[in-house]
Amino acid sequence: MSFTKLAIGTVLATAMMASTAYAETKHVVIGTGGQTGVYYQVGGAICRLVNKKTAEHGINCTHKTGGSVSNINGMRAGDLDMGVAQSDWQYHGYNGTAPDKFPEGAYTDLRAVFSVHPEPFTVVARADSGITTFEGLLGKKVNVGNPGSGARATMEVVMEKMGWEMGDFALAAELKSSEQSAALCDGKVDAIVFTVGHPSGTIKEATTSCDSILITVDNEVIQKLASENDYYDMTSIPGGTYTGTDTDTVTFGVGATFVSSTAVDDEVVYQMVKAVFDNFKRFKKMHPAFSHLKEADMITKNLSAPLHDGAVRYYKEMGWM
Ligand code: GLU
Repeated sequence: MSFTKLAIGTVLATAMMASTAYAETKHVVIGTGGQTGVYYQVGGAICRLVNKKTAEHGINCTHKTGGSVSNINGMRAGDLDMGVAQSDWQYHGYNGTAPDKFPEGAYTDLRAVFSVHPEPFTVVARADSGITTFEGLLGKKVNVGNPGSGARATMEVVMEKMGWEMGDFALAAELKSSEQSAALCDGKVDAIVFTVGHPSGTIKEATTSCDSILITVDNEVIQKLASENDYYDMTSIPGGTYTGTDTDTVTFGVGATFVSSTAVDDEVVYQMVKAVFDNFKRFKKMHPAFSHLKEADMITKNLSAPLHDGAVRYYKEMGWM
């Protein structure tokens, strides 16, 4: 048989297999975050692994930008099937404890799938801004983040606890995560505040395009906030992760989580989870922020909504539950 005939035969056979098993492809859309953050990489990595086997399971995965709060609201509105979200906003989404972010109240159909990387509340200041402490942000030009992002929402929580208002900054910019590092180095803002995994493209850009430093976020208010809420923890960003900061930076943090809802078929979530954990070594190499992930932690930690049934099916099959 000639190569062309063989190739056509293979294509036909694959198409036939796919069409017998699945009447139509199921499109799954994952809400992530800005291109230079880590959420976008989580979505990209998951989709890459899932789409390798579209011919077998019929699922085609794509991902788009967003942020924790808009991802959860997007799922509820039916625009997204799955999303990446901070543990604090997963908690508030499910329990309806943040009506300003989730006006429809408790989203009891929200489901946890697994948790991903830790996300410290990260403050970076340009070295010539004079900012050396967290309190030093007052009176300065600060990017507090774009509405819809979990990072912005968590900054609002912190500000409320600290007794700060937006007007206490010389400027409270609402730039997206992908815009903030250029703004920092161009002098449009003096500091950026971003809850994100490490290392991340955006913080790398902020610390290499100009001289800037990571700022410690540790005081009584922050320690109390972290100890009173299960979805927060005190943590630190290891020294040497970024140019300009050689010692550990103490702060508090959340965990990134992967979520879905009861509206998404168990089979779809099962196949998504299977794609990640059947190829876990590969997944962990897809971004340096994933390198420390452990299966046992991912299916237990930082999850406040119930686990999706499709995920439970895989975890039981593996003997993990
Ligand atoms: N934690 C951020 C948020 O929810 C996103 C971080 C990222 O893009 O990696 O908005």
